[in-house]
Amino acid sequence: MAEITLKNAVKKYGDGYPAINDVSLDIKDGEFMIFVGPSGCGKSTLLRMVVGLEDITSGDLLIDGKRVNDLSPKERNLSMVFQNYALYPHLSVFENIAFPLRLSKGTHSEEDIRSKVNAASDMLELGEHLERKPANLSGGQRQRVAMGRAIVRDADAFLFDEPLSNLDAKLRGQMRTEIARMQRRLGVTTIYVTHDQTEALTLGDRVTVLKKGVLQQCASPRELYDQP
Ligand code: ADP
Ligand code: ADP
Repeated sequence: MAEITLKNAVKKYGDGYPAINDVSLDIKDGEFMIFVGPSGCGKSTLLRMVVGLEDITSGDLLIDGKRVNDLSPKERNLSMVFQNYALYPHLSVFENIAFPLRLSKGTHSEEDIRSKVNAASDMLELGEHLERKPANLSGGQRQRVAMGRAIVRDADAFLFDEPLSNLDAKLRGQMRTEIARMQRRLGVTTIYVTHDQTEALTLGDRVTVLKKGVLQQCASPRELYDQP
């Protein structure tokens, strides 16, 4: 678990208009934070900046109060789930989920890997599919594999970039329930980008609204969507 703090964060690509413009935000330990806003408002940029795939142009990023601007993604210990899942087609479900553990070679025994992958796949109900390849899975199953890969190691926070956008309405509903259950159970700080108001309402502790790189509002879903 981790507290994630942005202080006057700015991201410029080249010399264009800032994609992220002076954003300050404090995401609490264990909080489920939603990012919404129109396409191009900077949501993905913000996620990639937090996880360390983009440099911050100016301002600060802190994890648990420690400045991490110059740390590599690995050193930040955050787990990101991409919109397209980015599964390895030639690897089985088991090996896809095990991948982050094998990357940090030497620190995990084969037994440890097996037990961690089994725990993650049980939680996501993938136990029967461990030997299959991604091509032979449904959209919802692939999405769960991507999630399994994110939760298999002890990351301090999860970052999700529209993880359900490729699914049909029924699967989206199911996965929403699973994500809510998983986050409650693990209690890990989560940043979640979505266009879907139902996801924002049902999953978020708070919702941050971005527009042209500027933070417009940050409030509970009830306040934001004026629920009775
Ligand atoms: P969103 O995820 O909300 O759709 P993005 O973070 O992808 O928004 O994009 C924010 C802005 O930054 C957009 O104007 C986009 O064109 C620009 N942008 C994103 N990635 C790059 C890049 N690699 N190089 C240049 N501009 C980029
Ligand atoms: P090293 O420190 O060994 O150079 P990095 O931490 O830079 O390794 O990670 C290598 C690559 O793996 C990165 O360029 C990035 O694309 C990817 N990566 C690492 N951590 C993450 C993460 N948490 N989420 C998404 N991609 C990641």
